[in-house]
Amino acid sequence: VTGTDTLLRRFVPGLDRSVCRFVLGTIPLARPTPDEAVALIRHALGRGVDVIDTARVYGPAEAYVGRALRDVPGADDVVVTTKSVSRDGDGLRRDLETSLANLGRRAVDVFFLHQVDSFPELDAVLAPNGALAAVQRARDEGLVGKIGLSGHFTPVLVRVLETMDLDVLLGRFNLTMTDDEAELVAGAHERGMAVATMKVYEGGFVTKHTDLALRFAVHHPGLDLVMIGCETVEQVDGNLAAFTASRPLADDEEQRLRTAAEALRSTTFCSYCGYCTAACPKALPVAHVFNLEGKLQVYGDDYGFQGSPGAAMYVSEFLSAIDACDECGACEERCPNRLPIRRLLKERRARLQACLDGRGDEG
Ligand code: SF4
Ligand code: SF4
Repeated sequence: VTGTDTLLRRFVPGLDRSVCRFVLGTIPLARPTPDEAVALIRHALGRGVDVIDTARVYGPAEAYVGRALRDVPGADDVVVTTKSVSRDGDGLRRDLETSLANLGRRAVDVFFLHQVDSFPELDAVLAPNGALAAVQRARDEGLVGKIGLSGHFTPVLVRVLETMDLDVLLGRFNLTMTDDEAELVAGAHERGMAVATMKVYEGGFVTKHTDLALRFAVHHPGLDLVMIGCETVEQVDGNLAAFTASRPLADDEEQRLRTAAEALRSTTFCSYCGYCTAACPKALPVAHVFNLEGKLQVYGDDYGFQGSPGAAMYVSEFLSAIDACDECGACEERCPNRLPIRRLLKERRARLQACLDGRGDEG
């Protein structure tokens, strides 16, 4: 990919990992007006941001990135990553062509297979006519520079490592990282992949100790790219300043995180495998509900997981999901940990409602 290999060398396997890079995330750009969104991206470019992440499913964000890069000096040197949720080859090809048109580029620097969160989805991606074969063909044609995959579920990502030859793995590796996730990150490096992280602030939940959360990610030895979504120029400036000035966690700060994470593991029984969601006729995000609830218990008061705008948004969505459960029980038959999912969902509902009502210490 012309003009980008120099930059990619900084986080591509086997090359210099000493520099963790800030990536402008564009999920929040659905909210500003088009002109504001384009101005924000150009502001970030002016501040030296040289990697931008977007996706087909981020509403108008991909087109905003294309608009922002048009006629800007040095735009060819900006690394642009985008993603497709298509699992079949034809769908992925259509998405890629749409992305190229939106971005106004002849190639995408890193193209992610987006949000592969279940084993059936992974099987579809790996099928002979699946998304992976299509993106590999696109790479051979020069339409894609590097191939990535993103997902939220550790066991699925472990299988990804075992079965796929990727350039970049993107996961939710933040201050709530478990031992399993740390092993996954280390394994990806051993396999020669670059590792990118999203949700540094756990989707807006971490509001009190954002500095710790950012420093954890920036200075984690296994993380090469840190994607941070920004909705305003003030957020761009604030995140960039914090990123640049951040220093490694002190021993006592790291110990505090470890203690909290240990408590999280002892209160969370769901191993995030995603079998329940795959079996659920309504594809309810059971693991997200259980893990969110665990985090609210452990990180709630200490890290500002309660009462934040992000928490309110997510909790509202999860309450709606729980309410959609008709208690058919299909999920429980598939749960390897034999969790009484229906009963637990009901219990979680009360706890999450208390959180939403600002009564986080109840339940
Ligand atoms: S019991 Fe609820 S969560 Fe489980 S499969 Fe049925 S609808 Fe889905
Ligand atoms: S509830 Fe059970 S099946 Fe669902 S993600 Fe957790 S451990 Fe896996």
